[in-house]
Amino acid sequence: MNYKAWVTKAAKQPMVLETVDLGPLGAEDVEVAVEHCGLCHSDLSVLNNEWGTSQYPTILGHEVVGRVTAVGPNAKGLKVGQRVGVGWYSGSCMHCRQCMSGSHHLCPQVQATIIGHRGGFATHIRSHWAWVFPLPEKLNFAEAGPLLCGGVTVFAPLVMYAKPTDRVGIIGIGGLGHMAVKFAAAYGCDVTAFTSSERTFDDAKRFGANHVVTTKDSAAIKELGGSFNLLDCDDARLCFTAQCRATNRALPDEQYQRGLRPTRIRQSPLPYRAGCGFLIRLTKLLLVTRRLRGKQS
Ligand SMILES: [Zn+2]
Ligand SMILES: [Zn+2]
Repeated sequence: MNYKAWVTKAAKQPMVLETVDLGPLGAEDVEVAVEHCGLCHSDLSVLNNEWGTSQYPTILGHEVVGRVTAVGPNAKGLKVGQRVGVGWYSGSCMHCRQCMSGSHHLCPQVQATIIGHRGGFATHIRSHWAWVFPLPEKLNFAEAGPLLCGGVTVFAPLVMYAKPTDRVGIIGIGGLGHMAVKFAAAYGCDVTAFTSSERTFDDAKRFGANHVVTTKDSAAIKELGGSFNLLDCDDARLCFTAQCRATNRALPDEQYQRGLRPTRIRQSPLPYRAGCGFLIRLTKLLLVTRRLRGKQS
C-alpha cells in the first residue's frame, strides 16, 4: 500500500509530500488513517532542530486524530474502524518500573512520535497500541487534536493535585493555559487567570475563569499571595518576568516546594525529558505540568 507523508529532510527545510514505505506492521503496533492533525509549536521546534534532538528525515505531527485501519496480532484493546488519537509519545518499553506503574511517559525508552518515528502529517501513522487512545465518538474530531498534547499536559497535574474546592491560578492564557482554565473551571475550582494581555480578559472569562488579573499589576498579585492551592504556569517567557516570580514567591511554601522539587523529578532517571516544552523550567510550578505530559490519566 502507498502511504504519503510530508517529509522534512533537514533542519529548517520545507516539508515535501512523498510516498513512504512503512514496512510490515509490528506485532504490537496499530495503524491509523489520519483524519486530522494539530500543528503544535513543538512541531516547529523539531523542524528547526531547536532542541538538538531532531532526526531527519522527519515526519512531524503529534496531535493525531483518525481511525484504526490495522492492528498487529499482539495489539490489545483496539479494533479496526475505531476512532483514536495519538499524541506526543507513541511507544514505550512496557516492562520497566515506570511502564508497569502506569507512568509510561517516564519510561527511559519512551518513543517521541516525531523524533525517530513517523508523525501524523501523513495519510497514516503507526503507534504501539498502548499509546493509541480511543476517543469518544461525540468529540469534535477536527478540534480534538490539541487535547492529545497541550490538553493532557495541563489536565494531568489538575487531576493529580487539584480538588474541586481549590483555588487554582493559571498563568498565561495561551495554547495550554486556555485549556487549563477550561479544565479547572469544569472541575469546579475557583480559577484565577493571569495574563499579560488585557485583550484576553474576556476570553479568559469565557473559558470559565472566575477572576482575571493582569501580570503587570504587581500590587494585585501581591494581594493574592498565599491564596492559591495550585499554580499552573505554561509560558516560560512569562515566568522570567518579575511579576511571575513574585507570584510564585507568593505561593504557600508547601505548594512552592512541591512545584520546585516534585518527587517525580528527583526519582526520574531522565529528569529533563524532551517534550512539548522542555523540562528546563525548574524554578516553576509548571514543572509539574510539563513532567506529567503524556500521562494517560
Ligand atoms: Zn505538542
Ligand atoms: Zn518502560
